[in-house]
Amino acid sequence: MLPLSMIVRYLGGNASSETRVHTEGIPWHSKRIISMINTKHWPNGSPLAKQDDRKRHENIEKYENIHLYLQWRAFTAITENNSIESVDTRHTATGETRRFNAPFFIDCTGDGWLGFWAGAEMMYGREPVSKYDESWPKYGELWSPNEGDNRVMGSSVLWRTIDTGEPVDFPQVPWSMEVVGNFEAIEGTWHWEFSHNDLHQVNDSEIIRDHMFKAIYGSFYNAKQQPEN
Ligand SMILES: Cc1cc2nc3c(=O)[nH]c(=O)nc-3n(C[C@H](O)[C@H](O)[C@H](O)COP(=O)(O)OP(=O)(O)OC[C@H]3O[C@@H](n4cnc5c(N)ncnc54)[C@H](O)[C@@H]3O)c2cc1C
Repeated sequence: MLPLSMIVRYLGGNASSETRVHTEGIPWHSKRIISMINTKHWPNGSPLAKQDDRKRHENIEKYENIHLYLQWRAFTAITENNSIESVDTRHTATGETRRFNAPFFIDCTGDGWLGFWAGAEMMYGREPVSKYDESWPKYGELWSPNEGDNRVMGSSVLWRTIDTGEPVDFPQVPWSMEVVGNFEAIEGTWHWEFSHNDLHQVNDSEIIRDHMFKAIYGSFYNAKQQPEN
């Protein structure tokens, strides 16, 4: 069995123990592949995600024709004749760079980075209903606005706390109150999501991240004021 301490980066993206969103793809006819990467139904954010890291790595390492380059982060794509010739990467621990050449590349970055670097056609936000004629009267403006805008799915906030069984101090966080008001919580999962028409999910990511930190620390502070917490 592969000791977890030897795994320095994990397969699985959001499903990995780095993020811990459980994934339960419906196997249907591709049972073999999906069941090798599916997780159990632990709550999002659970430490049990580590067990599925182990399963995923053991299954993938059985394949002699798959070479894993964990910790290599892509940062640009080199194109020729409208086609990606190579991708440049940097090792996140050593800083070493390495160029990968291949006849085909598949963009699995979750955010379409490879296509973006390659200059592929892209769009952002909700297009006007007239563009593809995809109206859905039931949801009206929400689904198919007359005017396009910058609305996209937001950044999720996944966080949890544990009960240590004894009192634990937590400082005041006055800088977060403008975001949370009186709201209180001791965990957050998929329905904690933030987007704003005036904020771009990539260009304004630090503002969005700070907003979400305020949401976490402020609502936890409020919860801590309750006697049971
Ligand atoms: C809290 C939460 C709850 C969710 N709930 C649901 C739900 O109920 N239903 C649902 O359908 N979806 C849900 N989602 C969304 C779902 O998890 C994502 O849509 C899905 O994980 C996307 O998969 P992916 O493989 O495209 O990308 P990811 O899972 O994001 O994987 C991308 C991988 O690429 C790597 N990567 C990124 N950039 C680079 C780079 N430059 N170089 C090298 N590697 C790179 C990342 O490290 C990561 O390992 C949820 C997400 C969250 C956070």
